[in-house]
Amino acid sequence: MGKVYKITLEVERFDPDIRRSWVQDYSLEVGGILRFTDVFRRINEELDPTLAWNSSCEHAQCGTCAVMVNHRPLLACELLVENAVHQFSTMRFRIGPIKVAPVVRDLVVDLEKAYDRVHKVKPYVINRAKNPLEGHEYRIPPEILDRYVEATRCINCFCCAAACISHPRSFLGPNAMLASIVRIMDPREEEKEERLKILHSEQGLYRCHTSKACSHVCPKQIDVAHFLALAKQGAF
Ligand code: SF4
Ligand code: SF4
Repeated sequence: MGKVYKITLEVERFDPDIRRSWVQDYSLEVGGILRFTDVFRRINEELDPTLAWNSSCEHAQCGTCAVMVNHRPLLACELLVENAVHQFSTMRFRIGPIKVAPVVRDLVVDLEKAYDRVHKVKPYVINRAKNPLEGHEYRIPPEILDRYVEATRCINCFCCAAACISHPRSFLGPNAMLASIVRIMDPREEEKEERLKILHSEQGLYRCHTSKACSHVCPKQIDVAHFLALAKQGAF
């Protein structure tokens, strides 16, 4: 049997019905290969069925389970207990919601509100360029794709937005900027002007202070700040 860890989660809770916030400790013995989503589930099954949290794919592909662990935004489905103990050098973990939108309950935030900021940049091809190879799929030359393919790995988990030092009220956020930059770099998109207008708007690119916190926390290892810097230089 693998090593067992006695851990304590200090969970930031919020009950919208009585508008009350508090921190609740949950202590339990868990195997090292359990993920934090599994730990949340164990809490629901064994200690407290009322603790609310979010997850969907639990394969680090949807971003739904993003939470703050000891003040660092990350995907709970990717974090093994054993790794967390080593990474944070503790058995106590402060768990909170990612505050990129209003908290609905406990660890659940209003993701629709968070997505509103991404929708503002229109994260899709607005005006499709004519395909040079009519009747075939649009083939992007590898040397062009190489310049931005890293950014297409974004799953909109909002970890970068949670780490960003710019306020969500004044800044659309690193992932929204990234979505816009991807489309500007995408040769299938003809509508560059509208995109540049959004990028350079009041809530756009220049709200970024180049702190690079976004790049440090991205679970998909995207150097978000690099793409924002490219856009600031107009070097698409
Ligand atoms: S850039 Fe990275 S951290 Fe930000 S939303 Fe996309 S995947 Fe998440
Ligand atoms: S580099 Fe810019 S976008 Fe990234 S965390 Fe810092 S301020 Fe936010």
